[in-house]
Amino acid sequence: MVKAEGVHKNFGRVEVLKGIDLEVRPGEVMCVIGPSGSGKSTFLRCINHLEKVNAGKLWVDGELVGYRQKGDKLYELRDHEVAQKRREIGMVFQKFNLFPHMTALENVMEAPIQVKKEPRGEVRERAAELLRQVGLSDKAGNYPAQLSGGQQQRVAIARALAMKPKLMLFDEPTSALDPELVGDVLGVMRQLADEGMTMVVVTHEMGFAREVGDSLVFMDGGVVVEQGTPREVITDPQHERTKAFLAKVL
Ligand code: ATP
Ligand code: MG
Repeated sequence: MVKAEGVHKNFGRVEVLKGIDLEVRPGEVMCVIGPSGSGKSTFLRCINHLEKVNAGKLWVDGELVGYRQKGDKLYELRDHEVAQKRREIGMVFQKFNLFPHMTALENVMEAPIQVKKEPRGEVRERAAELLRQVGLSDKAGNYPAQLSGGQQQRVAIARALAMKPKLMLFDEPTSALDPELVGDVLGVMRQLADEGMTMVVVTHEMGFAREVGDSLVFMDGGVVVEQGTPREVITDPQHERTKAFLAKVL
């Protein structure tokens, strides 16, 4: 579903990604850990067309990110084509960024109606069902300010799912939450994983990584230092940097 080959990204003279190679198979849940500044968010942003890679190749669902192939020639995607591609990928951030003037239900309905021009009635039904799936049926009429952080994050997940994405990216979805609210959000993510969604999850919730992740990637300094099954990486890390990092988060 996602494949990276030698992905490089720099901001000016600063090289942030220094050759990322990895592959996420359909239905796989890949968790990504690593110290602050190691390039985790930047890598997710490259997958989601929010940043352009400077070198190397990145594919989502078999298609080269940012380009369209015609014969053996590559053309850069135009803005509307990029927008089209981005609709197929759901992204959930640390900050939920719900529309404050819309209810939970309206937040979930917004993109399918505005972007995909789907019929309102159908979208409303699907949005209500998504809110049920994230355990918020009784909060459909609440505005974001009337919801806890954990509830807002679950609305944000439902909102991403409303676009029927083929891939979900999570960037530290629980790190802004009070500890007692983390479990509900991870529960929703676990359910999504069980349903077969392909997910790349930047998180330091090692319990989640161990129980739900199919693979675990440790990034440091813009490279993948180590990857394997969560069990391999957590219980038998091969590199000193991985060991030192795990000692801090476990
Ligand atoms: P954290 O755990 O703190 O979220 P991260 O692993 O997600 O860290 P990134 O946000 O990807 O790290 O940032 C990697 C490096 O790239 C950092 O040194 C950051 O300052 C730099 N960086 C990120 N975005 C930009 C930008 N738009 N312009 C310049 N530098 C940037
Ligand atoms: Mg980050």
